[in-house]
Amino acid sequence: MIPTARPLPAISQRSPDELTAWLAQRGQPAYRTGQLVRRLAAGARFEEMLELPAGLRADLAAAFRPSSLGEVRRLAADGGLTTKKLYELDGGYTVESVVMRYPRRSTLCISSQVGCPIGCPFCATGQGPFGRNLACHEIVDQAIDAARELAAEGRRLTHVVFMGMGEPLANYDAVIGSIRRIADPGGLGLSPRRVTVSTSGLAPRVDRLAGESLPFTLAISLHAARDDLRDELVPINRRYPLRELVPAADRFAERTGRRVSYEWVLLAGVNDTEGDARELGALLRGRLAHVNLIPYNPVDEAPYREPDPREVVRFVRQVRAQGLNVTLRDTRGREEDAACGQLRARHLAGSHERGSGNPAAG
Ligand code: SAH
Ligand code: SF4
Repeated sequence: MIPTARPLPAISQRSPDELTAWLAQRGQPAYRTGQLVRRLAAGARFEEMLELPAGLRADLAAAFRPSSLGEVRRLAADGGLTTKKLYELDGGYTVESVVMRYPRRSTLCISSQVGCPIGCPFCATGQGPFGRNLACHEIVDQAIDAARELAAEGRRLTHVVFMGMGEPLANYDAVIGSIRRIADPGGLGLSPRRVTVSTSGLAPRVDRLAGESLPFTLAISLHAARDDLRDELVPINRRYPLRELVPAADRFAERTGRRVSYEWVLLAGVNDTEGDARELGALLRGRLAHVNLIPYNPVDEAPYREPDPREVVRFVRQVRAQGLNVTLRDTRGREEDAACGQLRARHLAGSHERGSGNPAAG
């Protein structure tokens, strides 16, 4: 059998110290590292780095791939203001990320895992097979690719939300490492305040987050304010019930001084009644918290519906009447399967990706 050639390492796999050593072996001065890291963070290709000697550009191209991500598919929605990409990773798995453009900001929705082990029944990612954790550099490369695409449009990447595929706190070290790299002033330099980590609620890791001294925003996917319903909608609740999760989020708010955002995906007849609003009020009143309501984006085969717009407005009022701070999320990218996991679901249905044992889901 002919052995298949191993792909070149992606340059994002190398730390700045490793790059300095690699450059030194080629007789290059240490300041080249800063030049290279800065240009790589903006998504520049080696051949575009005209400030580097031609021989060095050729050496880089012979030694490294410019990204660990191969683009499989790109879709646009909302008149081009929302773009979604499906990427292939080493090993053949696919993940997706979404860029949403607004007048004064551009937000990247990033994936941290292939699939998700939590298995929420309303979520396309949760229905599909779990593949693996993303490596730190694979998360960073999503941000670099988005920065490159936005720069070509005269825009800047301003916000990153970990609301794509996967449970970020189940891939803790890679996610924290990626935030540090995305925030590195020598690279992308995005303020951690503009990064949101969304979690289904791994309470002990929420506590660990509080100790990271990284001032990002924490979002808790609540969806239900009583354990019996949350056990069903967010199955990790059986392990870390509300009495453990909410105090952990409080400790995060106390230690960081940053208010926690609680997400609530609106499922008609399931969690959008006046009783639900009252339970939510009882749980969060008086806390340093904010409620973000998300109209449900229907997923094939999931037994849930989104409430009609009048019911959404009614629920917003009922939550507000509880004295809570509440906003309704816009519904960017709903055409073309934008909700997390839906693009991959479509892809899996027609592919032989490993772990796609259940091709109808995704
Ligand atoms: N796993 C993490 C982050 C990714 S999901 C988490 O659950 O928080 C990001 C957000 O999108 C979560 O609040 C999740 O509940 C929500 N979500 C998942 N599927 C959705 C859908 N079909 N429509 C609307 N929101 C959805
Ligand atoms: Fe995983 Fe989040 Fe989807 Fe739940 S909602 S299955 S935690 S990605």
